[in-house]
Amino acid sequence: MAGERVRGGLRWTARVAAALALWAALATAAHGLEPPPRHVVQPGDTLAALAERYASTVPAIVAANRLADPDRIAVGQTLVIPPAYMPLVPIEARPGDTWETLARQHGLSADALRQLNAAAPGERLWVGQDLFVPASPEAASPALPPGPLLAIEAVPPAPRQGQTVLVRLHAREPLSLTVRWGERDVPLLPADPGPTAPADGVAAYWGLAAVPVLAPPGVQHLEVRWQSQTESGALRWPLAVADGGYPTFHIVLPPGKGDLLEPTLVRKEAEKVNAVWNGPITERAWTGRFRRPIADQFPTSAPFGQKRSYNGGPVNSFHAGQDFSAPGGTPVTAPARGTVVLAEPLIVRGNAVIVDHGLGVLTGYWHLSEIAVAVGQTVQPGDLIGLVGTTGLSTGNHLHWELRVRGVPVDPMQWLVQSFP
Ligand SMILES: [Zn+2]
Repeated sequence: MAGERVRGGLRWTARVAAALALWAALATAAHGLEPPPRHVVQPGDTLAALAERYASTVPAIVAANRLADPDRIAVGQTLVIPPAYMPLVPIEARPGDTWETLARQHGLSADALRQLNAAAPGERLWVGQDLFVPASPEAASPALPPGPLLAIEAVPPAPRQGQTVLVRLHAREPLSLTVRWGERDVPLLPADPGPTAPADGVAAYWGLAAVPVLAPPGVQHLEVRWQSQTESGALRWPLAVADGGYPTFHIVLPPGKGDLLEPTLVRKEAEKVNAVWNGPITERAWTGRFRRPIADQFPTSAPFGQKRSYNGGPVNSFHAGQDFSAPGGTPVTAPARGTVVLAEPLIVRGNAVIVDHGLGVLTGYWHLSEIAVAVGQTVQPGDLIGLVGTTGLSTGNHLHWELRVRGVPVDPMQWLVQSFP
């Protein structure tokens, strides 16, 4: 029943074309667009390492910089690093182009195109100016049936496994709304209708949906129910989930390994931590993008999402966080405002801290040598949480950083480049 109204008139096919055009404009109009970061190539840099560090992809960097040979980048060369969720390509402004005409051609608002290119409001385009635009128009999504709900946007529009999706709904009047994604409700907050709101949109709402790493790729549906003063309805809105491209590691445990820990204690620890991840939903405490919880110079040693199969068994687990290798004692800092909800030594996770950022978004920090915070304490971005260590089930000094949305582990690196909302 995708795109079909549950109750009320069904004479909506005539509006599909117009609504599709509106949709195309909305779908690409990411809110909170930031100009893509620029990186000056240092000795030893590789595109793969840069892609990982900035949560981009090698093809996206190659396209954005028109690189002839991805293996040959020069020290001192400045590269534009487009975020993976919005691959960009360079174009050159031609006679007659304006911010408005180019924005329309690429499904963005003029403001969003200016933001993307770090241009000041009112700044004029000149012929020959180099600009970035989204690499491809987004796949067309279905129009909504007529009714008070005018548009649904998702950023990224086609999320990968393990990504967080910002969902925004525009309505003609204030609505009572519930959105379900998979097993979970998506808590909604009122939003500014913003520059991409449809002309007759007066109310807007946003929420976060998390795509599990092991969710099958393909179309999945947001279940949307709405109620106005006079009527109610429901619809299923499709979201195409792309493969996350996470590599699978086949791990063979030597006999006896894994029996080293008392299973009852391991299970009790998991239950305790899961209860914290899935605790009551609190008010949103963060604003804007998250900060890296450890200084830039400490590289990723194991990225989020690596799938794991043990002793030839099924691929039923994956790396739920991002590991950074750093010497013992390296400061670990809060990526955003939040409240400490767990701070104690655990058997597997070692000295562990979990911070609640509100709205079901929590971050975890494992294997610390020292914990610098206490439960109930409020942390601000950059505040010390603890020091890198190798406590618990760990073979060397590193920070394991985990981010969960409503209990679902998602790629924390996305939160360093995309602002929610
Ligand atoms: Zn880890």
